[in-house]
Amino acid sequence: MMLEEMGLAPIWRLRERAPSEGGGEAPEARAALAEARITNHESQITDSSDRRATIMRMEWPALKARVAGCTDCPLHAKRNKTVFGVGDEAADWLFVGEGPGADEDAQGEPFVGQAGKLLDNMLAAIGLKRGANAYIANLIKCRPPGNRNPEPHEALQCEPYLHRQIELIRPKLIIALGKVAAANLLASDASVASMRGKIHRYRGIPLIVTYHPAYLLRNLTDKAKAWADLLFAVRTMKDLQGGKSGPN
Ligand code: URA
Repeated sequence: MMLEEMGLAPIWRLRERAPSEGGGEAPEARAALAEARITNHESQITDSSDRRATIMRMEWPALKARVAGCTDCPLHAKRNKTVFGVGDEAADWLFVGEGPGADEDAQGEPFVGQAGKLLDNMLAAIGLKRGANAYIANLIKCRPPGNRNPEPHEALQCEPYLHRQIELIRPKLIIALGKVAAANLLASDASVASMRGKIHRYRGIPLIVTYHPAYLLRNLTDKAKAWADLLFAVRTMKDLQGGKSGPN
């Protein structure tokens, strides 16, 4: 089924791995949420080294609570749920998308709509699934109205959250899904086509660029290129893991 979805023929089998997702919210998370709610209500845009430094000191519970209560840019006003990210908090693989759409905004989880189904199939094709050695996050934690691209100042406000997530996960490899994620993570305006097939770096961590699943749903012929990108990523991961056999 996943291969049909990918529009590709080779037979790959999904290998099961034990999920190792993080636990529930601690009292400190509730305290951080309360703090997050009372800060920055007046401000539309705040970015200071203090704000960043505070975020960069947070552990998972405080970071999750801070995002859940964030009002630091105008996107908070129209969101239903923040979309923090999901998966194995010690994953080797980190997939970064753009931002929540309507389904994600309603459910509070990244990539749960049609594009999410394709992403799950892409993960399965290389022996991964969310929660087992893979983490899925977005650049932006709140849905931009009408699914427009995030404005630069909105991406800027959200960037420390993803930065901290990356520091906590310490993935071996980041896969940037689509132009917006790649452009923001790499501070580059280059096209996805020109960024594919190379190992870039985000703060020292190897990063590979491929097409966004939503783009692939509209451009079926590029699925073969995305497949090539995934195979390149698997080879890269093997190298990073020191030649260990298997995709993960
Ligand atoms: N597109 C994204 O970039 N992220 C999501 O979570 C859903 C769709």
